[in-house]
Amino acid sequence: MRGEEPVVVEALKMRALPEGSCDRLFEFLRLYRDALQMVVNRIWSTSDKLSKKKLHKLFYNNLVSMGFRAHHAKEIYAYAESLVESARSNGGRKPVLRRLSARIDKYDYRLDLDSTTLTLKLHSDYKVRLRLITSKERVEKFRGWENYELVVKYEDGKFWVSIYFKKSVKSLKPKTIMAVDLNFDNATLAIFTLDSRLLRLKRFKTPHRKILTHRIWVERIQKRYPKSWRFIKGVRGAIERHGERIRNISWDYAHKIGDSVVELALKYHSVIVLEDLDELRENNKKSKRFNKELTLWFYRRIQFCIEYEARERNLEAIKINPKGTSSKCPRCGRKLAECRHRVLRCKKCSFIGDRDVTATINLYRRYVSKYSRCGVSGVALNAPKADADPRSNAGERR
Ligand SMILES: [Zn+2]
Repeated sequence: MRGEEPVVVEALKMRALPEGSCDRLFEFLRLYRDALQMVVNRIWSTSDKLSKKKLHKLFYNNLVSMGFRAHHAKEIYAYAESLVESARSNGGRKPVLRRLSARIDKYDYRLDLDSTTLTLKLHSDYKVRLRLITSKERVEKFRGWENYELVVKYEDGKFWVSIYFKKSVKSLKPKTIMAVDLNFDNATLAIFTLDSRLLRLKRFKTPHRKILTHRIWVERIQKRYPKSWRFIKGVRGAIERHGERIRNISWDYAHKIGDSVVELALKYHSVIVLEDLDELRENNKKSKRFNKELTLWFYRRIQFCIEYEARERNLEAIKINPKGTSSKCPRCGRKLAECRHRVLRCKKCSFIGDRDVTATINLYRRYVSKYSRCGVSGVALNAPKADADPRSNAGERR
Protein backbone atom coordinates (compact mmCIF):
# COMPACT_ATOMS: atom_id res chain seq x y z
CA MET A 1 0.00 0.00 0.00
CA ARG A 2 1.21 3.44 -0.94
CA GLY A 3 1.66 6.39 1.37
CA GLU A 4 2.69 4.29 4.39
CA GLU A 5 -0.72 4.48 5.97
CA PRO A 6 -0.91 2.38 9.09
CA VAL A 7 -3.35 -0.48 8.64
CA VAL A 8 -5.25 -2.41 11.28
CA VAL A 9 -6.08 -6.02 10.54
CA GLU A 10 -8.61 -8.02 12.49
CA ALA A 11 -10.15 -11.43 11.99
CA LEU A 12 -13.75 -12.29 12.70
CA LYS A 13 -14.17 -15.98 13.46
CA MET A 14 -17.60 -17.57 13.30
CA ARG A 15 -19.40 -20.87 12.96
CA ALA A 16 -20.76 -21.39 9.49
CA LEU A 17 -23.67 -23.56 8.47
CA PRO A 18 -23.83 -24.64 4.83
CA GLU A 19 -27.27 -24.29 3.30
CA GLY A 20 -28.12 -27.67 1.91
CA SER A 21 -25.56 -30.42 1.54
CA CYS A 22 -22.04 -30.17 2.94
CA ASP A 23 -20.63 -32.61 0.39
CA ARG A 24 -19.16 -30.10 -2.06
CA LEU A 25 -17.53 -28.11 0.68
CA PHE A 26 -15.95 -31.26 2.11
CA GLU A 27 -14.80 -32.27 -1.33
CA PHE A 28 -13.28 -28.85 -1.87
CA LEU A 29 -11.47 -28.85 1.48
CA ARG A 30 -9.99 -32.29 0.84
CA LEU A 31 -8.93 -31.38 -2.67
CA TYR A 32 -7.41 -28.16 -1.37
CA ARG A 33 -5.45 -29.94 1.34
CA ASP A 34 -4.12 -32.55 -1.08
CA ALA A 35 -3.14 -29.94 -3.64
CA LEU A 36 -1.42 -27.90 -0.96
CA GLN A 37 0.50 -30.98 0.20
CA MET A 38 1.52 -31.76 -3.35
CA VAL A 39 2.91 -28.26 -3.85
CA VAL A 40 4.64 -28.37 -0.45
CA ASN A 41 6.32 -31.66 -1.43
CA ARG A 42 7.56 -30.27 -4.71
CA ILE A 43 8.89 -27.05 -3.19
CA TRP A 44 10.53 -29.03 -0.39
CA SER A 45 12.42 -31.16 -2.88
CA THR A 46 14.03 -28.16 -4.59
CA SER A 47 16.62 -26.23 -2.72
CA ASP A 48 16.31 -23.02 -4.76
CA LYS A 49 14.39 -20.04 -3.58
CA LEU A 50 11.34 -19.81 -5.82
CA SER A 51 10.04 -16.45 -6.96
CA LYS A 52 6.32 -15.74 -7.39
CA LYS A 53 6.81 -15.97 -11.13
CA LYS A 54 8.55 -19.31 -10.89
CA LEU A 55 5.88 -20.68 -8.56
CA HIS A 56 3.22 -19.58 -10.98
CA LYS A 57 4.99 -21.26 -13.87
CA LEU A 58 5.49 -24.47 -11.95
CA PHE A 59 2.06 -24.93 -10.42
CA TYR A 60 -0.61 -22.71 -11.90
CA ASN A 61 -1.70 -24.82 -14.86
CA ASN A 62 -1.52 -27.98 -12.85
CA LEU A 63 -3.79 -26.60 -10.14
CA VAL A 64 -6.25 -25.12 -12.58
CA SER A 65 -6.51 -28.48 -14.35
CA MET A 66 -7.53 -29.99 -11.00
CA GLY A 67 -10.59 -27.74 -11.05
CA PHE A 68 -9.30 -24.80 -8.99
CA ARG A 69 -10.09 -21.22 -9.89
CA ALA A 70 -7.29 -18.80 -10.72
CA HIS A 71 -7.14 -17.25 -7.26
CA HIS A 72 -7.44 -20.60 -5.50
CA ALA A 73 -4.29 -21.64 -7.37
CA LYS A 74 -2.43 -18.47 -6.37
CA GLU A 75 -3.43 -18.88 -2.73
CA ILE A 76 -2.30 -22.51 -2.75
CA TYR A 77 1.20 -22.05 -4.10
CA ALA A 78 1.81 -18.86 -2.10
CA TYR A 79 0.65 -20.54 1.09
CA ALA A 80 2.67 -23.70 0.37
CA GLU A 81 5.75 -21.58 -0.17
CA SER A 82 5.28 -19.76 3.14
CA LEU A 83 4.75 -23.07 4.96
CA VAL A 84 7.98 -24.49 3.58
CA GLU A 85 9.88 -21.34 4.29
CA SER A 86 8.80 -21.14 7.91
CA ALA A 87 9.48 -24.87 8.46
CA ARG A 88 12.97 -24.43 7.03
CA SER A 89 13.78 -21.34 9.02
CA ASN A 90 12.77 -23.16 12.21
CA GLY A 91 14.93 -26.11 11.21
CA GLY A 92 11.79 -28.24 11.18
CA ARG A 93 10.68 -31.12 9.03
CA LYS A 94 8.58 -31.06 5.93
CA PRO A 95 5.07 -29.84 6.77
CA VAL A 96 2.42 -32.53 6.68
CA LEU A 97 -1.12 -31.23 6.35
CA ARG A 98 -3.90 -33.02 8.12
CA ARG A 99 -6.46 -30.37 8.83
CA LEU A 100 -9.20 -29.46 6.44
CA SER A 101 -8.61 -25.78 5.98
CA ALA A 102 -8.49 -23.46 2.99
CA ARG A 103 -7.49 -19.85 2.45
CA ILE A 104 -9.74 -18.07 0.04
CA ASP A 105 -9.07 -14.81 -1.69
CA LYS A 106 -11.67 -12.02 -1.91
CA TYR A 107 -12.30 -12.83 -5.59
CA ASP A 108 -13.64 -16.22 -4.65
CA TYR A 109 -16.26 -15.33 -2.07
CA ARG A 110 -19.07 -12.92 -1.54
CA LEU A 111 -19.85 -11.74 1.95
CA ASP A 112 -23.16 -10.16 2.83
CA LEU A 113 -22.96 -8.53 6.24
CA ASP A 114 -26.66 -7.61 6.29
CA SER A 115 -27.91 -11.17 6.00
CA THR A 116 -24.68 -12.63 7.50
CA THR A 117 -24.32 -15.05 4.64
CA LEU A 118 -21.26 -16.03 2.72
CA THR A 119 -21.06 -17.53 -0.75
CA LEU A 120 -17.90 -19.46 -1.54
CA LYS A 121 -16.79 -20.26 -5.03
CA LEU A 122 -15.41 -23.78 -4.99
CA HIS A 123 -13.65 -26.03 -7.48
CA SER A 124 -15.22 -26.94 -10.83
CA ASP A 125 -17.66 -23.99 -10.66
CA TYR A 126 -19.44 -25.28 -7.61
CA LYS A 127 -20.76 -22.80 -5.10
CA VAL A 128 -21.85 -23.10 -1.51
CA ARG A 129 -23.83 -20.66 0.60
CA LEU A 130 -23.12 -20.52 4.30
CA ARG A 131 -25.05 -18.93 7.09
CA LEU A 132 -22.71 -17.28 9.59
CA ILE A 133 -23.53 -17.75 13.24
CA THR A 134 -22.65 -14.57 15.08
CA SER A 135 -24.16 -11.59 16.83
CA LYS A 136 -25.14 -8.38 15.09
CA GLU A 137 -22.78 -6.44 17.33
CA ARG A 138 -19.71 -8.38 16.28
CA VAL A 139 -20.53 -7.86 12.63
CA GLU A 140 -21.47 -4.19 13.02
CA LYS A 141 -17.96 -3.42 14.10
CA PHE A 142 -16.60 -4.24 10.66
CA ARG A 143 -18.92 -2.09 8.65
CA GLY A 144 -16.78 0.22 6.57
CA TRP A 145 -13.77 -2.10 6.80
CA GLU A 146 -12.43 -3.90 3.79
CA ASN A 147 -12.36 -7.69 3.88
CA TYR A 148 -9.75 -9.32 1.70
CA GLU A 149 -9.29 -12.96 2.61
CA LEU A 150 -10.85 -15.72 4.65
CA VAL A 151 -10.03 -19.11 6.02
CA VAL A 152 -12.68 -21.79 6.03
CA LYS A 153 -12.06 -24.91 8.05
CA TYR A 154 -13.63 -28.03 9.42
CA GLU A 155 -12.85 -28.57 13.08
CA ASP A 156 -14.48 -30.59 15.86
CA GLY A 157 -17.31 -31.58 13.57
CA LYS A 158 -18.18 -28.03 12.57
CA PHE A 159 -17.38 -25.57 9.84
CA TRP A 160 -15.69 -22.33 10.85
CA VAL A 161 -14.90 -19.21 8.92
CA SER A 162 -12.37 -16.51 9.83
CA ILE A 163 -12.76 -13.42 7.75
CA TYR A 164 -9.88 -10.97 7.63
CA PHE A 165 -10.74 -7.29 7.67
CA LYS A 166 -8.46 -4.34 7.28
CA LYS A 167 -8.76 -0.66 7.61
CA SER A 168 -6.31 2.15 7.22
CA VAL A 169 -6.06 4.45 10.16
CA LYS A 170 -5.01 7.93 9.42
CA SER A 171 -5.40 9.60 12.76
CA LEU A 172 -6.28 13.24 12.54
CA LYS A 173 -3.96 15.49 14.43
CA PRO A 174 -5.88 16.55 17.51
CA LYS A 175 -6.55 20.23 18.05
CA THR A 176 -8.22 19.83 21.42
CA ILE A 177 -8.36 17.31 24.23
CA MET A 178 -11.60 15.83 25.46
CA ALA A 179 -11.58 14.19 28.89
CA VAL A 180 -14.47 11.89 29.78
CA ASP A 181 -15.24 11.03 33.38
CA LEU A 182 -17.73 8.23 33.90
CA ASN A 183 -19.93 7.96 36.94
CA PHE A 184 -22.90 5.80 37.58
CA ASP A 185 -25.41 8.63 37.31
CA ASN A 186 -23.65 10.80 34.78
CA ALA A 187 -20.88 11.09 32.26
CA THR A 188 -19.03 14.39 32.27
CA LEU A 189 -16.92 15.56 29.41
CA ALA A 190 -14.72 18.58 29.12
CA ILE A 191 -12.93 19.84 26.05
CA PHE A 192 -9.67 21.70 26.56
CA THR A 193 -7.45 23.54 24.13
CA LEU A 194 -3.82 22.47 23.90
CA ASP A 195 -2.96 25.54 26.00
CA SER A 196 -5.26 24.59 28.87
CA ARG A 197 -8.38 26.60 28.18
CA LEU A 198 -11.70 24.95 28.87
CA LEU A 199 -13.78 25.14 25.69
CA ARG A 200 -16.80 23.09 26.46
CA LEU A 201 -18.34 21.26 29.37
CA LYS A 202 -21.15 18.82 29.07
CA ARG A 203 -22.84 16.31 31.30
CA PHE A 204 -24.93 13.39 30.19
CA LYS A 205 -27.31 11.71 32.57
CA THR A 206 -27.20 7.96 32.63
CA PRO A 207 -30.26 5.71 33.00
CA HIS A 208 -28.98 4.60 36.41
CA ARG A 209 -32.42 4.84 38.02
CA LYS A 210 -33.90 2.41 35.53
CA ILE A 211 -31.00 0.04 36.02
CA LEU A 212 -31.29 0.44 39.77
CA THR A 213 -34.98 -0.46 39.70
CA HIS A 214 -34.31 -3.74 37.95
CA ARG A 215 -31.37 -4.45 40.18
CA ILE A 216 -33.51 -3.96 43.27
CA TRP A 217 -36.05 -6.39 41.88
CA VAL A 218 -33.36 -8.98 41.40
CA GLU A 219 -32.13 -8.51 44.96
CA ARG A 220 -35.64 -8.64 46.32
CA ILE A 221 -36.36 -11.93 44.56
CA GLN A 222 -33.06 -13.40 45.65
CA LYS A 223 -33.73 -12.38 49.23
CA ARG A 224 -37.16 -13.95 49.16
CA TYR A 225 -35.81 -17.25 47.83
CA PRO A 226 -32.30 -17.14 49.25
CA LYS A 227 -31.49 -20.79 48.69
CA SER A 228 -33.79 -21.87 45.94
CA TRP A 229 -33.87 -19.06 43.35
CA ARG A 230 -31.36 -20.80 41.16
CA PHE A 231 -33.46 -23.94 40.98
CA ILE A 232 -37.02 -22.74 40.60
CA LYS A 233 -37.63 -22.15 36.94
CA GLY A 234 -40.13 -19.31 37.30
CA VAL A 235 -37.96 -17.46 39.80
CA ARG A 236 -34.84 -17.84 37.73
CA GLY A 237 -36.77 -16.70 34.68
CA ALA A 238 -37.87 -13.54 36.48
CA ILE A 239 -34.28 -12.76 37.47
CA GLU A 240 -33.10 -13.35 33.94
CA ARG A 241 -35.74 -11.01 32.56
CA HIS A 242 -34.57 -8.19 34.82
CA GLY A 243 -30.98 -8.94 33.84
CA GLU A 244 -32.00 -8.76 30.21
CA ARG A 245 -33.64 -5.37 30.75
CA ILE A 246 -30.49 -4.08 32.46
CA ARG A 247 -28.42 -5.22 29.51
CA ASN A 248 -30.73 -3.66 26.94
CA ILE A 249 -30.98 -0.35 28.75
CA SER A 250 -27.20 -0.16 29.10
CA TRP A 251 -26.44 -1.06 25.50
CA ASP A 252 -28.98 1.37 24.22
CA TYR A 253 -27.55 4.11 26.33
CA ALA A 254 -23.95 3.24 25.54
CA HIS A 255 -24.64 3.44 21.81
CA LYS A 256 -26.30 6.82 22.12
CA ILE A 257 -23.67 8.33 24.34
CA GLY A 258 -20.86 6.86 22.23
CA ASP A 259 -22.33 8.58 19.24
CA SER A 260 -22.91 11.95 20.94
CA VAL A 261 -19.49 12.05 22.58
CA VAL A 262 -17.65 11.22 19.38
CA GLU A 263 -19.70 13.66 17.29
CA LEU A 264 -18.54 16.39 19.64
CA ALA A 265 -14.97 15.13 19.49
CA LEU A 266 -15.15 15.26 15.72
CA LYS A 267 -16.48 18.80 15.77
CA TYR A 268 -13.62 19.95 18.02
CA HIS A 269 -10.94 17.67 16.49
CA SER A 270 -10.34 16.15 19.90
CA VAL A 271 -8.29 13.29 21.10
CA ILE A 272 -10.55 11.47 23.57
CA VAL A 273 -9.11 10.71 26.98
CA LEU A 274 -10.81 7.92 28.89
CA GLU A 275 -10.17 6.38 32.27
CA ASP A 276 -8.31 3.10 32.16
CA LEU A 277 -10.82 0.94 34.00
CA ASP A 278 -8.28 -1.77 34.70
CA GLU A 279 -6.53 0.69 36.97
CA LEU A 280 -9.68 1.76 38.69
CA ARG A 281 -9.86 0.98 42.35
CA GLU A 282 -11.29 4.10 43.84
CA ASN A 283 -14.20 3.86 46.18
CA ASN A 284 -15.80 7.11 45.22
CA LYS A 285 -16.30 5.92 41.67
CA LYS A 286 -18.86 3.38 42.65
CA SER A 287 -22.27 3.92 44.02
CA LYS A 288 -23.03 2.27 47.32
CA ARG A 289 -25.99 0.44 45.90
CA PHE A 290 -23.99 -1.33 43.28
CA ASN A 291 -21.34 -3.87 43.34
CA LYS A 292 -18.12 -3.06 41.60
CA GLU A 293 -18.75 -5.57 38.84
CA LEU A 294 -21.98 -4.02 37.68
CA THR A 295 -20.50 -0.54 37.73
CA LEU A 296 -17.40 -1.52 35.81
CA TRP A 297 -19.42 -3.54 33.36
CA PHE A 298 -21.58 -0.50 32.67
CA TYR A 299 -18.55 1.77 32.21
CA ARG A 300 -16.88 -0.73 29.92
CA ARG A 301 -19.91 -0.82 27.69
CA ILE A 302 -19.91 2.95 27.37
CA GLN A 303 -16.20 3.03 26.66
CA PHE A 304 -16.51 0.27 24.10
CA CYS A 305 -19.03 2.36 22.18
CA ILE A 306 -16.97 5.54 22.46
CA GLU A 307 -13.87 3.76 21.21
CA TYR A 308 -15.78 2.09 18.43
CA GLU A 309 -17.35 5.32 17.20
CA ALA A 310 -14.00 7.09 17.50
CA ARG A 311 -12.30 4.48 15.35
CA GLU A 312 -15.04 4.82 12.77
CA ARG A 313 -14.25 8.52 12.47
CA ASN A 314 -10.47 8.20 12.63
CA LEU A 315 -10.28 9.84 16.02
CA GLU A 316 -7.94 8.68 18.71
CA ALA A 317 -9.14 7.45 22.09
CA ILE A 318 -6.53 7.01 24.79
CA LYS A 319 -6.81 5.48 28.24
CA ILE A 320 -5.18 7.05 31.23
CA ASN A 321 -4.73 5.72 34.73
CA PRO A 322 -7.52 7.45 36.66
CA LYS A 323 -6.10 6.86 40.13
CA GLY A 324 -6.76 9.90 42.26
CA THR A 325 -8.37 11.91 39.47
CA SER A 326 -11.54 12.54 41.41
CA SER A 327 -9.91 13.12 44.76
CA LYS A 328 -6.77 15.15 44.19
CA CYS A 329 -6.35 18.85 43.67
CA PRO A 330 -5.52 19.55 40.02
CA ARG A 331 -3.57 22.63 41.05
CA CYS A 332 -1.34 21.39 43.87
CA GLY A 333 -1.97 17.63 44.06
CA ARG A 334 -3.25 17.59 47.61
CA LYS A 335 -6.19 15.44 48.58
CA LEU A 336 -9.45 17.31 48.20
CA ALA A 337 -12.22 17.36 50.75
CA GLU A 338 -15.92 17.51 50.01
CA CYS A 339 -17.26 20.87 51.16
CA ARG A 340 -20.74 20.58 49.69
CA HIS A 341 -22.56 17.82 47.92
CA ARG A 342 -20.31 16.80 45.02
CA VAL A 343 -18.18 19.91 45.42
CA LEU A 344 -14.55 19.48 46.40
CA ARG A 345 -12.21 21.95 47.99
CA CYS A 346 -8.46 22.06 48.50
CA LYS A 347 -7.39 23.20 51.94
CA LYS A 348 -3.95 24.13 50.78
CA CYS A 349 -4.55 26.26 47.70
CA SER A 350 -8.30 26.81 48.10
CA PHE A 351 -9.14 25.35 44.71
CA ILE A 352 -12.85 24.59 44.53
CA GLY A 353 -14.55 22.49 41.91
CA ASP A 354 -17.37 20.18 41.02
CA ARG A 355 -16.21 16.64 41.62
CA ASP A 356 -16.77 15.31 38.11
CA VAL A 357 -15.39 18.41 36.45
CA THR A 358 -12.32 18.19 38.66
CA ALA A 359 -11.87 14.64 37.47
CA THR A 360 -11.88 15.77 33.84
CA ILE A 361 -9.26 18.44 34.60
CA ASN A 362 -7.06 15.83 36.23
CA LEU A 363 -7.50 13.45 33.32
CA TYR A 364 -6.65 16.21 30.90
CA ARG A 365 -3.54 17.17 32.87
CA ARG A 366 -2.41 13.60 33.11
CA TYR A 367 -2.82 13.15 29.39
CA VAL A 368 -0.83 16.29 28.64
CA SER A 369 2.01 15.42 30.97
CA LYS A 370 2.21 11.96 29.47
CA TYR A 371 1.82 12.71 25.79
CA SER A 372 2.83 16.27 25.19
CA ARG A 373 6.53 16.95 24.84
CA CYS A 374 6.37 20.46 26.20
CA GLY A 375 4.40 19.42 29.27
CA VAL A 376 1.74 21.53 30.86
CA SER A 377 2.14 24.74 32.77
CA GLY A 378 -0.22 25.21 35.65
CA VAL A 379 -3.81 24.18 35.92
CA ALA A 380 -6.50 24.97 33.39
CA LEU A 381 -6.59 28.75 33.69
CA ASN A 382 -10.31 29.07 33.61
CA ALA A 383 -11.01 26.06 35.77
CA PRO A 384 -14.75 26.03 36.27
CA LYS A 385 -16.09 27.49 39.48
CA ALA A 386 -17.69 25.32 42.09
CA ASP A 387 -21.13 26.22 40.92
CA ALA A 388 -20.35 25.75 37.25
CA ASP A 389 -23.19 23.57 36.21
CA PRO A 390 -22.63 21.87 32.92
CA ARG A 391 -25.98 21.82 31.25
CA SER A 392 -27.36 18.37 31.68
CA ASN A 393 -28.12 16.57 28.55
CA ALA A 394 -30.45 13.67 28.92
CA GLY A 395 -29.15 10.44 27.52
CA GLU A 396 -32.63 9.81 26.11
CA ARG A 397 -32.05 12.35 23.38
CA ARG A 398 -32.49 11.29 19.75
ZN1 LIG B 1 -4.72 22.53 45.88
